[in-house]
Amino acid sequence: MQSFSDVVVVGGGPCGSFAALNLGKFGVKVTVFEEHDEIGVPSHCTGHISIKGLKHLGLYPLPSQIVENTFYGANFYSPKGGKFSIRFSSPVTCVVNRVLFDKYIAKIAETFGVRYHLSSRVESLFIENGFVKGVNANQNGKDTEKFLSKMVIDAEGTSSKILRQTGLTTFDSLMLVNGVQAEVENVEDAESDMVDVFLGRDYAPGFYAWLVPKSGGKAKVGLAAKKGNPKELLRRFMFKHPVASRKLHNARILQTEFHPLPLGGSILKLYSNGFLAVGDVASQVKPTTGGGVILGMICAKVASEVARVALCANDFSSELLGTYQKRCEEILGFDLTVMLAVRRMLSAMSDKKIDDVIGFCAKFGLGETLQNFRDIDFQGQAILKTLRSPKMLITIIYFFFLYLSANI
Ligand SMILES: Cc1cc2nc3c(=O)[nH]c(=O)nc-3n(C[C@H](O)[C@H](O)[C@H](O)COP(=O)(O)OP(=O)(O)OC[C@H]3O[C@@H](n4cnc5c(N)ncnc54)[C@H](O)[C@@H]3O)c2cc1C
Repeated sequence: MQSFSDVVVVGGGPCGSFAALNLGKFGVKVTVFEEHDEIGVPSHCTGHISIKGLKHLGLYPLPSQIVENTFYGANFYSPKGGKFSIRFSSPVTCVVNRVLFDKYIAKIAETFGVRYHLSSRVESLFIENGFVKGVNANQNGKDTEKFLSKMVIDAEGTSSKILRQTGLTTFDSLMLVNGVQAEVENVEDAESDMVDVFLGRDYAPGFYAWLVPKSGGKAKVGLAAKKGNPKELLRRFMFKHPVASRKLHNARILQTEFHPLPLGGSILKLYSNGFLAVGDVASQVKPTTGGGVILGMICAKVASEVARVALCANDFSSELLGTYQKRCEEILGFDLTVMLAVRRMLSAMSDKKIDDVIGFCAKFGLGETLQNFRDIDFQGQAILKTLRSPKMLITIIYFFFLYLSANI
């Protein structure tokens, strides 16, 4: 039996569901295929996202049961335990329960008529005359069936198996870091309205570690690293880091999840005939933090707008769908480039240099200057604004010299 939709979406994560929601709103017939039997499960993500980003997406305020905590800023720790904080006068970020968040987006999509097929794994794309015209999906482990559509939006996350069938190149293994996230209890002395970020090669080589407090002594603790065993690195970080171990020495791990993160920032081709890619599969992730929920959803909305134009024009050619890439680059290109440069700079620094930098930032009271840096998603533009401050200029020059002299 063959079914037909205007648009098939592969993956019921936040990006797939948000693309579907924004199409469903306009009466487009959308079917989402999700390989798991429940939306949002398993969750591998901390769910630390910016409030400004949620507002931008029209999702703020979220229902209170989804939001686990809100934060006024972040403490940055050097490998030796030096501290530098940025605190704002009102909450800038929140941590969401990703299972409930994903379900919430999917529920809204369903109210707009979007159909979800759970336990339905897309095995391959159906391609005819060079155009993607649907998918072959396996539902509940039964025979694979063909589902036809005018176009496909791929939101499969880091797996990239479907994307590769179009001949598009995906990120390579060099652009991935291995992430681990644990739910823990019995956390002591955590500042409940601040997120902790721990820099340094020794504990999280090539990326960083974090502690995101929730209520009742619980927290999400995680790290991502370019090399090393994430499970061992996490234990080492929790029980050996000079600051983290003080907060976590009595902590009990309730649950641990492992998942790769794309580093983002690269320009991948995101479209072909009848096909668009959104979210992690398209590397729409902040290279500085690995956060992909807000950026991916912003691009998912753009994808839905371009798909609507294609449906109206009955033109699914890569020429028309390429406007998606242009618009994403207009919105994110500059910020991703700046964030990638910052990420490279941080990754190139030795632990000693990171200790010096954190000490420098604390000494020069940079926290105050960076209070203007409220835009956590569009970090490139935020950096440009802060450059007007002489202190910030001195810091950039300082960072630049450190970068040039870094032990790569
Ligand atoms: C440890 C860790 C912590 C993170 N913390 C944060 C954070 O604090 N803030 C933040 O913004 N980002 C964070 N991220 C990144 C964030 O999780 C991703 O950027 C985000 O989930 C991307 O959404 P997505 O919809 O593109 O992909 P996903 O959320 O991965 O969803 C993809 C969906 O597609 C489904 N799927 C895959 N293949 C198929 C198929 N063939 N057929 C059917 N279904 C399929 C999967 O089951 C999945 O449900 C973190 C990531 C990790 C690993």
